[in-house]
Amino acid sequence: YKCIRLILGDQLNPQHSWFKEKDEGVLYVIAELHQETSYVKHHIQKVCAFFSAMQNFAQALTHAGHHVLHLTLDDTKPFSSLPDLLTYLIEKYEVRHFDYQLPDEYRLRKQLREFTLGLNATSSHFETEHFYLDEKELKKEFKSGKHHRMEAFYRRMRKRFDILMDGSEPEGGRWNFDTNNRNKLKPQDFNTVPSPLQFENDVSDVITRLERHSVETIGQMQNSIVWPVNRAQAKQLLAFFCEQCLPQFGEYQDAMTCQLDSAFDKRQWSLFHSRLSFAMNTKMISPAYVVNTALQYYEQHKGLISLSQIEGFIRQIIGWREFVRGIYWVNMPQYSQLNSLSASRALPDFFWTAKTQMNCLKHAISQSLEDAYAHHIQRLMITGNFCLLTGIDPNMVDEWYLGVYIDAIEWVEMPNTRGMSQFADGGIVGSKAYAASGNYVKKMSDYCSGCRYQVNAITGPSACPLNSLYWRFMALNQRDFSNNPRNKMVYANWLKKSDTERGEIISQAEHYLVNIESL
Ligand code: FAD
Repeated sequence: YKCIRLILGDQLNPQHSWFKEKDEGVLYVIAELHQETSYVKHHIQKVCAFFSAMQNFAQALTHAGHHVLHLTLDDTKPFSSLPDLLTYLIEKYEVRHFDYQLPDEYRLRKQLREFTLGLNATSSHFETEHFYLDEKELKKEFKSGKHHRMEAFYRRMRKRFDILMDGSEPEGGRWNFDTNNRNKLKPQDFNTVPSPLQFENDVSDVITRLERHSVETIGQMQNSIVWPVNRAQAKQLLAFFCEQCLPQFGEYQDAMTCQLDSAFDKRQWSLFHSRLSFAMNTKMISPAYVVNTALQYYEQHKGLISLSQIEGFIRQIIGWREFVRGIYWVNMPQYSQLNSLSASRALPDFFWTAKTQMNCLKHAISQSLEDAYAHHIQRLMITGNFCLLTGIDPNMVDEWYLGVYIDAIEWVEMPNTRGMSQFADGGIVGSKAYAASGNYVKKMSDYCSGCRYQVNAITGPSACPLNSLYWRFMALNQRDFSNNPRNKMVYANWLKKSDTERGEIISQAEHYLVNIESL
């Protein structure tokens, strides 16, 4: 071979220009790496889904006539790192050139850059050809350390890619339908929730390998992987989403329920969400393909799907997904150190066991451990909000999110966790901290009805911990947060309370913090 081309586990993009032509001189390398199984403790389903998707991709490339070397953990055991393995392969195959696609994670990009600097062969790097914005465009859109508004970015993206536009105006005359999209799911709506399309991908050989190599994982293994592990399955999941979920996606985007776990034979654990994040983050399917397919479906079924549903979905992909990537790249590596609220408490053990009496947390955590999935509002407003209010060390929060979710890759996990959810970036991602009391949980879910704590009480032995913790958090940050006009009402309400009331609330919160492990 004259050249080795590396394909990382999240670079499974069959549409990449590398694969347009067959080249006898190129050897593609796809490798299960020990360093990738151990930089954080991953959910077992996540490792299985990645390894399985990589194996399928290697087979698909081979089938298409490319030369592929697929290495398992058994093969890569002797190599302590990716550079060690590459050095060996470059010597073994006597190649004089090395190609790689730019990794989306800072850690890997740095490792490969350093590797190529010391390499005794020439090397080139390539775009992944996955995102709407390429590397150069990202640098133009985002500036380091600066607060960017997602809404302004999103509107530019809509115009630039001519998505849901009527000439230069947004279709329907509005950019944002969020106000139509904040409905609670009521029992009478339950029968409209589809049972999720779940695949049955056998990963027993991967599990055996993980055991053989003592790879430490978290979470529950299911009999088989329900996640899509090849492009055909990713497309099937997308079609299922368009037909079954898109008609109500926006409407119930923020809704949460625990009733559907037991009410039907098949759990409806993902509501109207697409569960496409894993397929997109591994690049088996591109955001443009997802967006165009959903748009086409919307055009053909306008009677069934309203503008606010499709707009809500498109916003997540061309807006949030591209946005957090920009934030990540212009701010790394400093971003990973940010801790603007000086949060330092240890993450409670119940994040790893779901053994807590707070029903909202119990549900969101147990679902995460069982399914390697929770939807956005569960991540942001249940587990994230709790960590924010209790001041958990953002490194520990990042580690949990990076490990537990099927779709967790640092470029997308970190700005969402450290930024949007924990406000540790001091407002680079969000203009205000997403802090909420029990009232929000009550409004958007049915978690509170079966809870040991009373959501309407702020103090007293059964008071919902979120209430006093919320007030304590806001009081603690009053100096920094009160200038924000969006917090004006909150502080007006806080100041309306008597000194005694405020004192009681703070003591209640302190009591809960001291006893955080037994909440
Ligand atoms: P849907 O609700 O169906 O949304 C469609 C798609 O939009 C998603 O697949 C995703 O690609 C994109 N999207 C939606 N919201 C966001 C967002 N805020 N940022 C980026 N893309 C978004 N997403 C990840 O892909 N990986 C992560 O590691 C991750 N960590 C998160 C951590 C926290 C604390 C929070 C609050 C959010 C995180 N998100 C992450 C964003 C979001 O929660 C998930 O993308 C979403 O829940 C995936 O489920 P879905 O595919 O069913 O999404």
